[in-house]
Amino acid sequence: MKIAYLLAYPAGHSISPAMHNAAFEALGLEARYEALECPPEDLAEAVRGLCEARSYGSNVTIPHKQAVMPLMDALSEAARAIGAVNTIINQGGSLLGHNTDASGFLRALTDDAGFDPSGRQTLILGAGGSARAVAYALLSAGVKTLRVYNRTHAKATALAESFAELGDIEAISREELATQAEQATLLINTTSVGMAKAGEDPDVSPLPVDLLPHAGLVCDIIYRPAKTRLLKEAERAGLNVQNGLAMLVYQGAESFQTWTGQDAPVQVMRRAAEAAL
Ligand code: NAP
Repeated sequence: MKIAYLLAYPAGHSISPAMHNAAFEALGLEARYEALECPPEDLAEAVRGLCEARSYGSNVTIPHKQAVMPLMDALSEAARAIGAVNTIINQGGSLLGHNTDASGFLRALTDDAGFDPSGRQTLILGAGGSARAVAYALLSAGVKTLRVYNRTHAKATALAESFAELGDIEAISREELATQAEQATLLINTTSVGMAKAGEDPDVSPLPVDLLPHAGLVCDIIYRPAKTRLLKEAERAGLNVQNGLAMLVYQGAESFQTWTGQDAPVQVMRRAAEAAL
């Protein structure tokens, strides 16, 4: 029996176990996926445990995506550029840190939304960990421009600086947001504003409705709720919309493929994720 883990803290609400276990079952693999509730002080030991023969490796999520990096034997180009690991692959006792958030986001955009980002003017809201993966994906896909707006401007500036060599990326101020949003044909929310959280009203948007782009696609990488206020308002304004479920499924599918060497049963994973939500 092989095992893939999820290193998280807390691990309670993850839908990855449902998604991966459904995929293992569909392919008849003797394997299971197990969420490990791993407090920061136990991280190094948990990572060492991934080297054992029965382990495929793991997914990594909040709050460990950066903290695992120095514990890896090697890092993929994507993990190094993004500065975060969401997938660890056990290669015979040697651990490769990889990141599938960027490729998952890009595949969701092209395969599910039918949107080719190359040559587009694009705008990201947020400058946290997922914004870095989305920025790397978009610049690698050859967008014309990428603008980044964040509540804390210094974080947007730092993000833009770290990807400057990959393309035309700039942090923008609140004053520039209206013009940049108007010109963008792809807008992505990577902030947690609008996410369903205990004790918080999810009916909030990271962008005033009058600043929505005039045409194109609005993505929200949030998948709980399925339609955030931003997406509802964008849809009412006649824009195409996409939520974060496809990104979640495709990042999981690439992790699955790197562990097992087999194509992931994406539809099975999507159905399991939807059922678990
Ligand atoms: P993170 O690193 O903590 O970043 C959070 C971002 O949200 C920061 O830019 C932060 O701005 C901003 N933010 C938080 N509260 C805000 C507020 N009240 N007003 C304005 N901005 C606010 O988080 P993350 O890992 O990037 O995750 C962000 C979201 O993406 C979460 O909802 C997560 O569930 C989702 N996500 C989805 C997928 C997927 O596969 N679909 C993958 C990863 C993440 P400051 O810098 O100013 O604090």
